[in-house]
Amino acid sequence: MPMCATSSQHAEPGSGQPVVPFRQFLLKIHSRCNLACDYCYVYEAADQSWRGRPRRMTAATAERTGRLIAEHAARHGLREVTVVLHGGEPLLVGPDHLETLLGVLVDALEGVVTPRLVVQTNGLRLAEDPRLLPVLDRYGVRIGVSLDGTAASHDRHRRHHDGRGSHADTVRALKELADGPYRPLYTGLLCVIDMTADPVETYEALIECAPPLIDLLLPHATWQTPPPGLEKGTVRPEAPPPQGVYGRSTPYGDWLRTVFDRWYDAPRRETRIRLFEAIMAPMLGGRACSEAVGLTPVDLVVVETDGAIEQVDSLKVAYHGAPAAGLHVSQDTFDDAAAHPAFRARQLGLDGLGSVCRGCFRAPVCGGGLYTHRYDPEAEHPFSAPSVYCADLALLVDHIHRRLAPDAAKLLRVKGT
Ligand code: SF4
Repeated sequence: MPMCATSSQHAEPGSGQPVVPFRQFLLKIHSRCNLACDYCYVYEAADQSWRGRPRRMTAATAERTGRLIAEHAARHGLREVTVVLHGGEPLLVGPDHLETLLGVLVDALEGVVTPRLVVQTNGLRLAEDPRLLPVLDRYGVRIGVSLDGTAASHDRHRRHHDGRGSHADTVRALKELADGPYRPLYTGLLCVIDMTADPVETYEALIECAPPLIDLLLPHATWQTPPPGLEKGTVRPEAPPPQGVYGRSTPYGDWLRTVFDRWYDAPRRETRIRLFEAIMAPMLGGRACSEAVGLTPVDLVVVETDGAIEQVDSLKVAYHGAPAAGLHVSQDTFDDAAAHPAFRARQLGLDGLGSVCRGCFRAPVCGGGLYTHRYDPEAEHPFSAPSVYCADLALLVDHIHRRLAPDAAKLLRVKGT
């Protein structure tokens, strides 16, 4: 199982806390979408800043961003960075503008740092415009596609603007990608969990598309706007849940536990699942390569279509303006962002958690869950609450530990003999 690279940390003059450099740069190259998913955190959430932004990133903004990434990488001695093309739907920029943006980005980074280029897409444009895949291939851009499992669960949420489901179109695009010469670009599937869908059917529908990796995402939610299945007014825990007693129903924990068992017990490893690997890694002495769990400092920064430098976009579900940092590529640097208190708050490990999570024996693995999911305006500090998914995460961590412990012990015995 891959473990995370150790972050290079530089002590910033005049402060006790080391600066954690960014290694992941998420570029919003197009800020509108050809789907209207009901759970979309960009358009349907509290933050509505997309309304005032340009539709697409200009070549000048991409070039300036590329130069700032190169400067940041050189200063911190980074040899590789990940640049994620994101939206809205990033491929709506079209093949010509996509080629322009990739060209200026790659030129700006050339000779300084190796970019690992990725695009996260709903896939529809891949089947509609045959010129896109060759452009992505020329620049070695790896492709992640959003698919929510079976046709029924996907079409329940991921619909066209006229209300039609998008599953058939997405699967057609996946065939173009996964079955042909562009297969090496296919990085995996991103699936938002619908806890009313059958977990095994969902997993098996995903592996039918032969993904190298699956990202299972808990729907973005906070204590103020709880996820489906968890009613408003669900009481925030005042203490970590004891093992086996989770204090409320655990629909997401139960769902994930079922998928874990199906995945873990398969006679051969069918795919990777990032969330499970991120929970297993610290149990085996590694580091979680995920924002969703664990205590690894956050090393991701967002650049919006207009050049604003912002925090992770899932914060849009918390309140209007939550991701904003007041920084812009025209006048600030990524070192300015790394030193900004909003980013630093997410790099403090255990010290960055609230008192309940700090006292929880699962904290080194769970890490309080995703920062966004901790938001509670009534808490002492708005992001100091345990995750709104606390009980579900506790159950999942305990379950995976229970499954892993005997196998790890067996392995050690074999090695010892
Ligand atoms: S969110 Fe995670 S670390 Fe915090 S109390 Fe719950 S299980 Fe423990």
